Amino acid sequence: MKHRILGLLAMTAMILVVFLASAFGPDSPTRRVHQHLTARQPDAGCDCDGSELCTHLPLVIIDTGGQEIPGKITGETDAFGEDISTLAPDGRDVINVSFTIVDNQDRNNHPSDTPTLSTTSEIRVRGHSSRLFEKSPYQLDFVDEHGQAAPAPVMGMASHSEWVLYGPYLDKSLVRNYMWYNIAGEAMEWAPNVRYCELIINGDYRGLYLMVETITDGEDCRLDLSTTAKNLKATGYLLQGDRTVEEDLGGERDIYSYLERMLTLSTDILIKYPKRSDLTEELRKEIEVEFAAFEKALYSYDYDTDDYGYWNYIDVDNFVNYFLINEFSLNVDAGRYSTYIYKDMSGKYKLAVWDFNNACDNYWSDPLSPDRIDMVSHTWFLMLCKSEDFVQRILDRYDELRQTVLSETYLLDYIDDTLAYLGPAVERNNQRWNEAMTQWEPLSPASRNLHSHEEAVTQLKEWLYERGIWLDENLHTIQQYCHPSRNKTYNH
Ligand SMILES: [Zn+2]
Repeated sequence: MKHRILGLLAMTAMILVVFLASAFGPDSPTRRVHQHLTARQPDAGCDCDGSELCTHLPLVIIDTGGQEIPGKITGETDAFGEDISTLAPDGRDVINVSFTIVDNQDRNNHPSDTPTLSTTSEIRVRGHSSRLFEKSPYQLDFVDEHGQAAPAPVMGMASHSEWVLYGPYLDKSLVRNYMWYNIAGEAMEWAPNVRYCELIINGDYRGLYLMVETITDGEDCRLDLSTTAKNLKATGYLLQGDRTVEEDLGGERDIYSYLERMLTLSTDILIKYPKRSDLTEELRKEIEVEFAAFEKALYSYDYDTDDYGYWNYIDVDNFVNYFLINEFSLNVDAGRYSTYIYKDMSGKYKLAVWDFNNACDNYWSDPLSPDRIDMVSHTWFLMLCKSEDFVQRILDRYDELRQTVLSETYLLDYIDDTLAYLGPAVERNNQRWNEAMTQWEPLSPASRNLHSHEEAVTQLKEWLYERGIWLDENLHTIQQYCHPSRNKTYNH
């Protein structure tokens, strides 16, 4: 008996050690990797003769075999006023290209080096307003010879098949998406993995890009959205709130939601996962009913009761973190466009951050001065802020994050350290896009446009500095939304 107990204890200890090692060890999928702190540094030197591009960053080389990459806007619009995009000659919205990565561990990377990864990828130009940019963002899907998803680990990131190649262009500081994905990744359970790289398409140097993991399903996916169980209670799914995209909708709405009615008519909730091919009408209906129950609870007078409370439907910590990351950076599209909500094996809804290109006063049409609170103008969060408990959790979490990843020192050092890591790649990128950097003026009013990388870095730093000070003094004003004088309740 004694031996059995000892054996059990030893086994428990062993399991605990294995668990701790897997949760916090160097290969842990949950550990956030900040490329600029861990990867090969720019001053590491190289033994090459300097006759070709020599970079310490991973090098992505795409060969389209002479085909145009589809998805550029044509300048024409369809019956709904949406831009019409170019298609491949065979009518598809993607083409297959040769996709290679050179990512040496012991020396710099050169176009003639033996690739670290060679695969076939589907590719198209992606984005909405960013489709206008000369430095295009691209959607990638790695596929095998049968056209099936072919996940691969990339630049030290976990294996995945769907990626985005995002080229900082509107963001002349070059760091917004990198820093905010990583800061979100420290504060939240899931945020896209991201690595800087340099891109060559058909021999043409295209400058500095970010390889970004997308919010999708698939083998080895870091989000556990398994659909092995038939019962919906054990099945995850992923929804996307975004502008109506006819080709995604297939002519029909996935979900009729309050969000759509209360925000803008051009916002729809799409079911991104399960994929179209796996989405039966029965399953679609079940997801719609479940989502409606969440929104009904959120907008009801019973929002603070045990039976109908929002906490039965959402992961409250996740929503608090999402609120704070997007509020601090004034990422005003979050909660309207490019808004991803998923339900994993925890059974609660969670939000995933996406796209900080316009954050920190880089929005095209409106100046975003640091002295405002924006997230409460988003329907879900306006409703959540009726709860005293939710508001208190935001204020408490703000104080915590302000001591760590949202502290002034952390934010300003993060920008300096990232740019020091990028080193000569910044100059190469800016030379390539010099004309856009100096002449393109998309922001309104025109005085907001910055004409060099240095100006853009200064703007970002000053804005973040002022933003923190203003929020320290004013974030507590969101308590007005939960004050009893503002919210009639019928339950007390
Ligand atoms: Zn070299």
